[in-house]
Amino acid sequence: MTTWKDEIASRKTFAIISHPDAGKTTLTEKLLYFGGAIREAGSVKGKKNTKHATSDWMEIEKQRGISVTSSVMEFRYRNFHINILDTPGHEDFSEDTYRTLTAADSATMLIDAAKGVEAQTKKLFKVCRLRSIPIFTFINKLDRQGRDPFELMEEMENLLGIRSYPMNWPIGMGRDFQGIYDRINKKIELFDPDNPSNIQVKEVSGPNDPVLVDFIDPSLLEQFQEEMELLDVAGDAYDEERILSGELTPVFFGSAISNFGVQNYLEHFLKLAPAPVPRESDIGPISPMDGEFSGFVFKIQANMNPKHRDRIAFLRITSGKYTQGMSVRHVRLEKSMRLAQPTQFLAQDRNIVKEAYAGDIIGLFDPGTFRIGDTLAERTSFSFDEMPHFSPEHFTAITVKDAMKHKSFEKGLQQLSEEGAIQLFHTYKRFPELQIVGVIGVLQFEVLEYRLKNEYHADIKMESLPYSIARWIDGPEKDMELFKQKQKQLVTDRDGRIVALFDNEFQMNMTKDKYPNLSFYENSYLK
Ligand code: GDP
Repeated sequence: MTTWKDEIASRKTFAIISHPDAGKTTLTEKLLYFGGAIREAGSVKGKKNTKHATSDWMEIEKQRGISVTSSVMEFRYRNFHINILDTPGHEDFSEDTYRTLTAADSATMLIDAAKGVEAQTKKLFKVCRLRSIPIFTFINKLDRQGRDPFELMEEMENLLGIRSYPMNWPIGMGRDFQGIYDRINKKIELFDPDNPSNIQVKEVSGPNDPVLVDFIDPSLLEQFQEEMELLDVAGDAYDEERILSGELTPVFFGSAISNFGVQNYLEHFLKLAPAPVPRESDIGPISPMDGEFSGFVFKIQANMNPKHRDRIAFLRITSGKYTQGMSVRHVRLEKSMRLAQPTQFLAQDRNIVKEAYAGDIIGLFDPGTFRIGDTLAERTSFSFDEMPHFSPEHFTAITVKDAMKHKSFEKGLQQLSEEGAIQLFHTYKRFPELQIVGVIGVLQFEVLEYRLKNEYHADIKMESLPYSIARWIDGPEKDMELFKQKQKQLVTDRDGRIVALFDNEFQMNMTKDKYPNLSFYENSYLK
């Protein structure tokens, strides 16, 4: 019989991080396909042409052909219960994308072999690093000519500061792609371009096994053997501890579109990736195996069903077990509440969930009671560590056109900032005071305007500001005082912390030089 502890131990909750077009949708489809969650690889694509009207952003989604909000997909594979936290891949991604990563126990970084480490991957990687979660790497599109694998590993080290351990190694690439060699299990998986699903697996004694000449082109074989030797001599050693602490990334090569190398990655991933891990709280770490149910809200999504105007708060369960209708404490509001009809997400469909365990994500109907970062706990009162805010990249001053609508405008701004759609700042000691909205993707401005108009009947005026960087400032009191007096472009965040805005890196670095005793943090965690 499976106990609740077995259930938790079988959970793998992770996010795929990548730059648009690296193949995240394609990889996700293949993974869901292995789990039998979809009948044929390819059906998730439907979300991109909005066949299912799941959100009010349909218009924006249609105009731009992208999916604005991130979602959770869960599937079972063998005895594992896998939750994939999806992160929007378009350039106009939002802070939600970052926050979603705080609900993941590990991440898979997907890299296009021809393009290497791209801008968005770098940003998302940094967020994963904050929590030192293990990061797996899938280097995609080996069926096309890409860059040299050694060069890609070097780039990961230079741009991301992470060492890598290739779990498998490609033999040839592009037109010459012959397959991969699994270094751990010592087997070759052969690629058949005419029939990619026909993967032949050959067990060998190692890269120098004479039998290899029977199925690998001699010139490629020689190159492969040299590369393996180089890896053994100069590469990092396999080290699970370093993998789990996020210092070493296990690297996999493959072609998602051909479903080649995907299962190899999945099998190793399931062996290595952690089950739910403890989370820090104000009473110390909370173990997932604690008997008590607890969780935190990491994302709030508005109006998934336009007819009902409801919001869904996404809760990452951090310990124990949820059962339908259970009562829990809403710690910030100091009140108890019944979790009536949470939903779980399976390849975009919403189902009522009867039980769920640490590691799972459930969606709670939210009439406006939740904020990003809220803790729910069964009995004990404690709060998980605060959800960080990340430096916005676009800023605008915002006012309401019609002064009569001021109240509902303020309410809307408040609400949207609690949902985490925008960050709201106030100018510091400046009269008249200005409200400044910061976002990570400019699309959020459109969303803001649309929602204030449609839900709060407030037409707004936005005046774009030249800043592109925000830094949370901290340091000795004397230096802080001087900084507050002298520095222009200062604002306070929702919690009254001092934040400095800069037009560009150059301007920021000059300021840093001027105030060597102060720290400039990229996020409100102050890390
Ligand atoms: P996303 O933006 O990261 O979700 O990327 P998609 O999964 O939509 O893929 C972007 C493009 O790359 C699409 O045209 C895919 O067909 C293509 N693609 C994905 N995986 C592979 C692959 O392994 N090989 C090749 N040649 N193309 C791929």
